[in-house]
Amino acid sequence: MTSLLTFPKGGVHPPESKKLTADLAIEVMPVPDELEIILGQHIGAPCTPTLEKQAEVREGDMIGEVKKGLGVPLHAPVAGKIKSFGMSAHPMRVSAPSMTILTDKEAAPRTYTKIEWSHLDSKQLLAKVHGAGIVGIGGAGFPSHVKLSPPPSNPIDTLILNGAECEPYITADHRQMLERSADIVEGAKIILKILSIKNCFIGIENNKPDAIAAMTEAAENGSTSEFAIKVQPLQVKYPQGSEKQLIQSITGRKVPGFALPSAVGVVVHNVSTTAAIYDAVALEKPLYEKVMTISGKGIKRQANLRVKVGTKISDIVDYLGGVTPELAKIVMGGPMMGFAVSSLDIPVTKTTSSVLFLAADEIDTTPHSQCIRCGWCLEACPMGLEPKEIAIHVEAGRPQDTKQFGVFECFECGCCAYVCPAKRPLVQFIRLAKMKATN
Ligand code: SF4
Ligand code: SF4
Repeated sequence: MTSLLTFPKGGVHPPESKKLTADLAIEVMPVPDELEIILGQHIGAPCTPTLEKQAEVREGDMIGEVKKGLGVPLHAPVAGKIKSFGMSAHPMRVSAPSMTILTDKEAAPRTYTKIEWSHLDSKQLLAKVHGAGIVGIGGAGFPSHVKLSPPPSNPIDTLILNGAECEPYITADHRQMLERSADIVEGAKIILKILSIKNCFIGIENNKPDAIAAMTEAAENGSTSEFAIKVQPLQVKYPQGSEKQLIQSITGRKVPGFALPSAVGVVVHNVSTTAAIYDAVALEKPLYEKVMTISGKGIKRQANLRVKVGTKISDIVDYLGGVTPELAKIVMGGPMMGFAVSSLDIPVTKTTSSVLFLAADEIDTTPHSQCIRCGWCLEACPMGLEPKEIAIHVEAGRPQDTKQFGVFECFECGCCAYVCPAKRPLVQFIRLAKMKATN
């Protein structure tokens, strides 16, 4: 096997907790009676609805668009009727504008037929990616067509597919790599054609040997004189899947602070986003379904589920048999970078990768104390920042002085808080500093 690569600075090894769902095949959840579709599911201006209340929609119809600036359209995940416009619960913004679609339970699910895309040029392929509403579904929802249009000043030579999935518990990408390996490789070829380059690496942490084997076989079958696609096994170390760390692990290139991967000639896409790009181009299917992991000891049944965007967490909980008496905390996203939520009314968006129902023995509730200046957080930080200083300045009411410690280079991976023996909520301090330092 090829040697295991990793990034040079910091990182931690939290318990993986992936066994709960790693072997569970992706299961299609039945469509709920109604869906709440949040209008802002990407970075950029939220969508404006393109249809009125009471309008009938078919599965896959466009229901919202962004006329100006950054953004992608939204599509109906089901056939049905637009019931209302209002506000929905949101994990980070408390509430967000949304539309509710009443599902037509009699309608047959839409089917898609594969088309030949190899004759399409870069511009036509990009238009399909944009038109299908594709965003980075493993991250913050950055529109994929923009990521695939790097400035000409930064020539790209390498595509990296991110299959690291380094967050504990989450196995959605793992299952996609096992169950859709050929589609992901074909998605990689679409991206390579858009970027007019040949080389692609698929980075996968070494704790997923079955995914490495499946993707290696698919990559070998898919590589041609035009496309060179290679799987690169990676050392198991969090945050291996963070964009800058992944680039450095695989290419040795260091993305400068505040710069984009294109600054070092690289474009990175998550493997599940790549599967969505395949759907958008080869099947002409918009993005309106999401594969997500539901895990933790606080839910009766764990699963990797394919759900319609707009499905509420409460519907997922009902489908999986309810919560257990041990439930202590609900987290959207992974335990390292996710957000604790208190409502089950939150609907799934294009970027929801997991919901964790954690029992008391899966979380740490030790109260935090004063910094003992051990320096462990500095050692753990993959960006070489000074989290302890940021926290101390925030506590002292001086968040505006934290720029010198790199607060805006922090991508909130949580390594510092994970190792802190005083259990200091360093990421919360950092989020506060970012808010205050920009005001
Ligand atoms: S959360 Fe920020 S400061 Fe803490 S380890 Fe990660 S990048 Fe460094
Ligand atoms: S790890 Fe915690 S206690 Fe140690 S220096 Fe950092 S903030 Fe202070």
